[in-house]
Amino acid sequence: MMLQSHLFIDGHWIPGSEERYLDVINPANGEVEGRVAHASRYDMDRALAAAERGFKVWKETSVFERSKIMRGAATLLRQRSEEIATLLVAQAGKPLAEARLELASAADVLDWFSEEARRAYGRVISPRSSAVSQQVIKEPIGPAVGFTPWNFPVAQIVRKVGPALAAGCSIIIKGPEEAPAAPVEFFRCLHDAGVPAGVVGLLFGTPAEISGYLVPHPTIRKVSFTGSVPVGKHLASVAGAHMKRATMELGGHAPVIICADANLELAADVLLTTKFRHAGQACVAPTRFLIERSVYSKFIQLYKARCENLVIGDGRDPATTLGPLNSERRLATLQSLIEDAVSKGATLEHGGRRVGTKGFFLEPTILSGVTPDMRVMNEEPFGPLALMVPFDSLDEAIDEANRLPFGLAAYAWTADLRAANKISRSVESGMISTNHFGLAIPETPYGGIKDSGIGSEGGLEAIEAYLNSKFVTQMDPA
Ligand code: NAD
Repeated sequence: MMLQSHLFIDGHWIPGSEERYLDVINPANGEVEGRVAHASRYDMDRALAAAERGFKVWKETSVFERSKIMRGAATLLRQRSEEIATLLVAQAGKPLAEARLELASAADVLDWFSEEARRAYGRVISPRSSAVSQQVIKEPIGPAVGFTPWNFPVAQIVRKVGPALAAGCSIIIKGPEEAPAAPVEFFRCLHDAGVPAGVVGLLFGTPAEISGYLVPHPTIRKVSFTGSVPVGKHLASVAGAHMKRATMELGGHAPVIICADANLELAADVLLTTKFRHAGQACVAPTRFLIERSVYSKFIQLYKARCENLVIGDGRDPATTLGPLNSERRLATLQSLIEDAVSKGATLEHGGRRVGTKGFFLEPTILSGVTPDMRVMNEEPFGPLALMVPFDSLDEAIDEANRLPFGLAAYAWTADLRAANKISRSVESGMISTNHFGLAIPETPYGGIKDSGIGSEGGLEAIEAYLNSKFVTQMDPA
């Protein structure tokens, strides 16, 4: 029987008032894998009313109770992860090992927010008179809405639901229509762990219809979006026009600066996993490999050799290390970026071709001799594509790293502490990781600057985004 994913409104699973469904495609074979309910205006109104009621309940729930319920949901997610991982494989096209990893890390993120919920302290400010007291108290901002994409269907939701619940907010998630089944199971964990009705809601449908109604709606006090820069800019402008707090987690075009003194073997190993995880469909995936000229050819050879070992296939096969792209549309985008670069003189060092005719597979691809006039050097490829660029001085590499309007993740590999410090200080990005991949752990900030977004979805900053600071001052009665 075909898998059906429903909406979660006010503690109930419902098919949607119009009983309309969208097809869900398995990216590994292009076949219809399931169906997902499509929310109507009536469903959205119900979700908003439930979120308003849920907010009143949740903000009055003691932080110890909230924390306990969140920890319980993380435990359920771990217990059910084998079953949920198979849904991620079938609908997001991930290799099984990656699906397991996504769920393990999502449970860790939820655990961390459950702990940090207990530490959302305010502060006392010294008064100018002994008759006066001054304090800053933290209050949940109100019902929130989060829009999450298909690349990490559960983890992206947890990065919004975790801090919202920790802060005492209710939240409606517009989940990914491309991979709805794993998010549905995650919401089942929240419900079964005791999150009260209305505190969390899950909608699917037409993204622009849902954001067009929910973002300006007076019930909603906070908007969080993960996705592409153009959509993020649009939603941020709507949020701004209605004076809503917004967190925007958008695209990147991550530079990685590889100096001649780096441990090249280790760099090639780590960058292989970081680049090709989920077929390169991660906003922090390294894209522009800026390599000191004396080791340029050597590094390309090391990287190519590792690409040969990637096993392309359906994520259900445990041997698979490189799954498909998410959609025919993404495959076509990648192919056109490669064609454009090659037509302008880039060298195809490895891959570049579609694999098979079923599903949306692309070979791991390396382009060298790329120049700034090529589209791929300016647009985020969001796929299994690495661009190799030589540099002669560190300043030149830093200038190239900062050339684009993106500023999400950046990487550096060097044995020289002075170079590492210079890169960390000069590269314009929200996150920079040197000599390892150290991003995306729960306790550290996760977010971009420039066109890559506003705010953070990790660490203390993530909870702060769902809190208001209220200044309270009192004077002793005269
Ligand atoms: P897209 O711009 O069509 O969609 C990106 C996401 O935004 C999807 O989840 C989509 O459902 C949602 N969306 C689109 N229009 C919307 C609207 N009006 N209101 C609310 N949500 C809306 O791009 P795509 O082809 O699906 O994905 C590729 C691009 O998206 C990449 O270039 C990448 O930058 C970005 N992306 C980023 C992340 C991330 O983790 N930051 C994740 C997925 C996609």
